[in-house]
Amino acid sequence: MKTFNVILIFLLMETTSFAQLTQPTLPYAYNALEPYIDALTMEIHYSRHHKTYYDNTNKAIVGTAFEKMTLEQIIGAVDEQVPAAIRNNAGGSWNHDFFWACMAANAGGEPTGNVAIAIKAQWGDFAQFKEAFKKASLGQFGSGWAWLVVSNKELQIVSTPNQDNPLMPISKVKGTPILAIDVWEHAYYLKYQNKRADYVDQFWNVVDWKSVEKRYNEAVK
Ligand code: MN
Repeated sequence: MKTFNVILIFLLMETTSFAQLTQPTLPYAYNALEPYIDALTMEIHYSRHHKTYYDNTNKAIVGTAFEKMTLEQIIGAVDEQVPAAIRNNAGGSWNHDFFWACMAANAGGEPTGNVAIAIKAQWGDFAQFKEAFKKASLGQFGSGWAWLVVSNKELQIVSTPNQDNPLMPISKVKGTPILAIDVWEHAYYLKYQNKRADYVDQFWNVVDWKSVEKRYNEAVK
């Protein structure tokens, strides 16, 4: 009888619980991007802001169809009908996973390979590309993101408000992100205060162009 109860409880647990989304480990140490992005900003950004997006996504999807989806599938389903709690928190979870992957220690410099050729074709040179990207970063009023995306095999710079991203059906501009910068104040305020432009200028020192190139090649396939 006792064994039967244990088995019954186990079966109930198996059929009623879904896998929760798990925040991936930061791919480098908090101080890896010093001095351009300071360790305390990274620690707070990853362990509090990013973690909270994951926690709140997991809370928001309980009892909904999203509970059975991967994070990518949720992002790909964000339309007008999706509650703000899911849109914002799933967006915050995905966007930061992506942002961490765009940066690395001992990175920066200029792009190489196919993405460098595409940037040159679109903007003339790397300096003009950086200007355009900076303009999008500074032009995003309030909180949001600037993105380099591949759209119809062409590069495009776009910005999104809050935690939206160009993969969401709700996004005005759509495309496959290959690079992003978080321009929420929490991403730079401790070190740069209100000087978002300085933060954007220093961002180039930590961009992992190797990973950008990989995503570019994948997106234009
Ligand atoms: Mn952020």
